[in-house]
Amino acid sequence: MLLRCMECGREYPANEVRNRCDCGGLLDIDLGITSPLATDLFDQRLGGRGRLDQSGVWRFRELLPTIPGDAIVTKPEGNTNLYDVESLARWAGVERLVLKHEGENPTGSFKDRGMTVAASHAKWTGARIVACASTGNTSASVASYAALAGVPSIVFVPEGKISAAKLGQTIAYGATIVQIRGDFDAAMKLVEQASDAYGIYLLNSINPFRMEGQKTILFDLLQQLEWALPDWVVLPGGNLGNSSALGRALIDLQAAGILAEPPRVAVIQAAGASPFYEAFRSGFRSFEPMEAETVASAIRIGNPVSYARARRTIEITNGAVEIVSDTELLDAKAMIDRAGIGCEPASATTLAGLRKLVQAGTIAPNAFVAGILTGNLMKDTEAVIDYHLGAGSDERPLANKPVLIDPTLDALEGVLAGALQR
Ligand SMILES: *Cc1c(COP(=O)(O)O)cnc(C)c1O
Ligand SMILES: [Zn+2]
Repeated sequence: MLLRCMECGREYPANEVRNRCDCGGLLDIDLGITSPLATDLFDQRLGGRGRLDQSGVWRFRELLPTIPGDAIVTKPEGNTNLYDVESLARWAGVERLVLKHEGENPTGSFKDRGMTVAASHAKWTGARIVACASTGNTSASVASYAALAGVPSIVFVPEGKISAAKLGQTIAYGATIVQIRGDFDAAMKLVEQASDAYGIYLLNSINPFRMEGQKTILFDLLQQLEWALPDWVVLPGGNLGNSSALGRALIDLQAAGILAEPPRVAVIQAAGASPFYEAFRSGFRSFEPMEAETVASAIRIGNPVSYARARRTIEITNGAVEIVSDTELLDAKAMIDRAGIGCEPASATTLAGLRKLVQAGTIAPNAFVAGILTGNLMKDTEAVIDYHLGAGSDERPLANKPVLIDPTLDALEGVLAGALQR
């Protein structure tokens, strides 16, 4: 197991704590998988009582960095549901769509998968304090796992730009919270500087151990499909950690002989936070950071840290990158919510983007698609209230306004008639 620079190829031992190569390049973990692995091994652990077997991350430990068991902090995470919803497949225009709901992780987002590995690595290497910059979900996850690990945490968030639920979670789990006058990208830059200056263990997805844990979204998904492959995997892209992890997962599964031909990957960005999409459109010849603005706060990121790693994912899978407007993603969210599943705004880019890619002919109507929902509905109730009750809601066919009546059967009858027509 080695850390390897994606730019210059320089190698470092895996127990060395560093955020980047000396050349500034991103680090990638090479597990050195050379012999075939049987998926039976992972299947036998399902339903097991072992602490690590119960985790939808550590169940796949042969495909993860080796960390001593007594350093491993697990809640346990993963094992999220896979929803096969015909109405949403029809709306998107594909034959079959399964949605992997990563918002069902312990702190309500996929971040917990990466966090269990990176927080365990932090504990193992004796970190005195851990830190992250966050649009809210990473901070909630860091605060929770650091508390469990018994390590203090400090999180940097853009002031006024994260939802009340995410801020509340982070406060409750006891992290020191630093609000930045600036956006996420400014918070990210500051935390990286602070990490270098003070030796703080950085828990953002620049950390290759975060990537490693996030790979397991794909392992867990494939195991639920009894190791059958979808044609496409579709997911949101913000800081691009998850998109990067997916590529790393595919490389590892090929090395382990579990997968021959990788599925194609589509990354969806919000139109107001779309530097990866613009780079894709240039054939990855240029990459320009931008000032980001979108209602989907979890992906309101203009200078994604993991650009180079995510680019590899698109290249090795002959993938695609698409953008969706705030209106498109909020309408898709209303569809997912109304189906009884629910997710936060950023997650709904998956369905909105899939629909656009089908309309554009990039994804075939007979495709079998797996979509990733990244965060829980309860993470952003402000967005729900705004959509259904706020400005413009009268023009939204899916808007669902509570009604106020006098407590009489007469008054109720008018409401019942409408309810029956839904
Ligand atoms: C973090 C996050 C994203 C973006 O993931 P990246 O790995 O940064 O691209 C999307 N949706 C939700 C809900 C998130 O918390
Ligand atoms: Zn390097």
